[in-house]
Amino acid sequence: MRLAIPLGGPRTVALTLDACGGGSDMRVIRVLLDHAVPATIFVTALWLRGNAPVLASLMARPDLFSLQDHGERHLPPILGQRHIYGLPVAGTLEVIRHEVEAGAAAVVAHGAPRPTWYRGATALYSSDAMQAIEALGFRVAAYSLNADQGASLPAAAVMHRVQAAVSGDVIIGHVNQPHRPSGEGLAAGIAALREAGTRFVTLDAVPVSPLLCHPFGRAETVA
Ligand SMILES: [Zn+2]
Repeated sequence: MRLAIPLGGPRTVALTLDACGGGSDMRVIRVLLDHAVPATIFVTALWLRGNAPVLASLMARPDLFSLQDHGERHLPPILGQRHIYGLPVAGTLEVIRHEVEAGAAAVVAHGAPRPTWYRGATALYSSDAMQAIEALGFRVAAYSLNADQGASLPAAAVMHRVQAAVSGDVIIGHVNQPHRPSGEGLAAGIAALREAGTRFVTLDAVPVSPLLCHPFGRAETVA
């Protein structure tokens, strides 16, 4: 998934940051706040419950941050019985619909506008699940540049990946792993892009290309 933007303009990217559960990575969030960098932040109900002060500081800047749906319990929207990257999948369309709707309801219950985008845990989707999610009125989010592979990469690698973004990239990273090295690299990469004059947009702000789907196995790791 990429931004559909005219060629020849300034480098323009969308930062899309997942808050899967756990804590808040202030190394990254501080860069966003201090330098007024717009970002789309995909939050779960789990994360919303445990991060009230950070949520308040994000919601105080609706001009910068778009809060979107990352599910209620961080269940991959995948049919069947399996684990992906250690996570049990949702399993059925009924559970997937609940995961999406309850995730959106949690965002609204915390006072933010109703999400229009959903990105599932792992950013992998069963094709029937994608159709079911779209039928609920959500747009299904993916990405084009995987910054941190589920916050698993060393800081230098993450920074290198982010700095290499090209115009139109939808960058995925994580803001819920404050104790892993990845976040340091994500913060540094964002700062470097900004210093290079990159324009940041939220997913609401510009059109995006249609999703190009690949079979699981070719996808990179996103937790
Ligand atoms: Zn996640």
